[in-house]
Amino acid sequence: MNPGNTVNDWDGDHIIHPLHPVGQSPRVAMEKGHGVVLQDTEGKEYLDCRAQLACVNLGYGRQEIIDAVVEQMNKLQYTTLFHGFTNPVAVECAQRLAGIVPEGLAHFVFTSGGSESVESAFRIARLFWHYQSRDKHKIISLYDSYHGLSLGAATATGMGKGAVWSGTGPAPAGFLHIPSYDCYHCMFGKDYPGCDIQCARFLEETIVKEGPDSVAAFIAEPELGVGGMIPPPPEYWPRVRDICTTHNVLLIADEVMTGFGRTGKMFAMENWGIRPDMMVMAKGITSAYLPFGAMAFSDDIFEAVKGTYMLGFTYAGHPVCAAASIKCIDIYRKEEIAENAARVGKHVLDRLHAEFGPMPCVDNISGLGLMLGFNLVSDKAARTSMAPEVSADVENRALAGGVLVRCMNPATAPGSRICFTPPLTMTI
Ligand code: PLP
Repeated sequence: MNPGNTVNDWDGDHIIHPLHPVGQSPRVAMEKGHGVVLQDTEGKEYLDCRAQLACVNLGYGRQEIIDAVVEQMNKLQYTTLFHGFTNPVAVECAQRLAGIVPEGLAHFVFTSGGSESVESAFRIARLFWHYQSRDKHKIISLYDSYHGLSLGAATATGMGKGAVWSGTGPAPAGFLHIPSYDCYHCMFGKDYPGCDIQCARFLEETIVKEGPDSVAAFIAEPELGVGGMIPPPPEYWPRVRDICTTHNVLLIADEVMTGFGRTGKMFAMENWGIRPDMMVMAKGITSAYLPFGAMAFSDDIFEAVKGTYMLGFTYAGHPVCAAASIKCIDIYRKEEIAENAARVGKHVLDRLHAEFGPMPCVDNISGLGLMLGFNLVSDKAARTSMAPEVSADVENRALAGGVLVRCMNPATAPGSRICFTPPLTMTI
């Protein structure tokens, strides 16, 4: 075994690689990155058309982000936000976020990533109702959704029609799942637009059936991410916003993947002019230069939960991560990154339609901004998916050819789908 080569048996035998067979050596070890290109330990270069987990929104090696981190490291490496301590960098970061989130959502919880942000949203949603002496505790989410793998987030996650729950014992109570807005694999067996958005109407039916007095919140991704980069039909979110308002159910937008320009808007809910009650963020918040996350929530919720409560994490408001985030937000704005994602995404989508669309094995080319995908099918008319091995093979061949794409297969998304989520700095 060569200790310098990290793609080896020792790695496979000792380190768990998520969504890779435990005990199997990893496929590739990356050593360097610049712009939209990664380089492995053997010196081979790859065009990163997946931004790893759709998180390196600003590309690799941005010196100004690195400088901001080093400067903050030299000044103050850490203080807590617990027990009334704060630091000016966390405050400045919250102010920056307040300048870009939808109006009225300028209250924040800081975290170290997506799952913690989702857990914070669930906790605050339940406390919001509890402090009003109401037992509204149920959380509704979508099959095909991904919200993270900590216990609450994993229970809300509906990916693989529940594959993530298997074998991990009793789930926390109060979580329900309803069919997603994935029209191509409609769980109602309907076709859009004749369906009259049954998936949204079903949310209302579920709230009514469960009893609106028991439902705290509905959480969903504005566009399904790990579920295959699938956008909803245009009427979905306006209808869902109305339903949540009518039945006093908090609307939580999980913008962990869609946020920070990914769909061609700073936050994806802007695509439909919708203001959620809570918004979950991570990934692009620091362009993955450091682990960081946040949860934004409304004035009403802030007023209701004022006081002391048990919510927080050791690294919440970490000044070094906050410094990276401030720099990233400045770059998103100055370089009009969301606009670039919209422009480049449209170009890629047009090319996919023109060049791949006519192929008998490609269907359902879709997505917003630079959050795109297409399905591999053996029968277009019947929408019969190719075997998962086929999309895995496409991903592996692309990797061998120096291009990183992400394949989704039935474990994570319905059907075999090839996804494209490059850094948003990609140009045409
Ligand atoms: N929510 C969404 C929409 C995600 O895509 C992810 C991660 O991919 C998460 C939550 C969980 O984030 P993390 O892996 O940082 O905990």
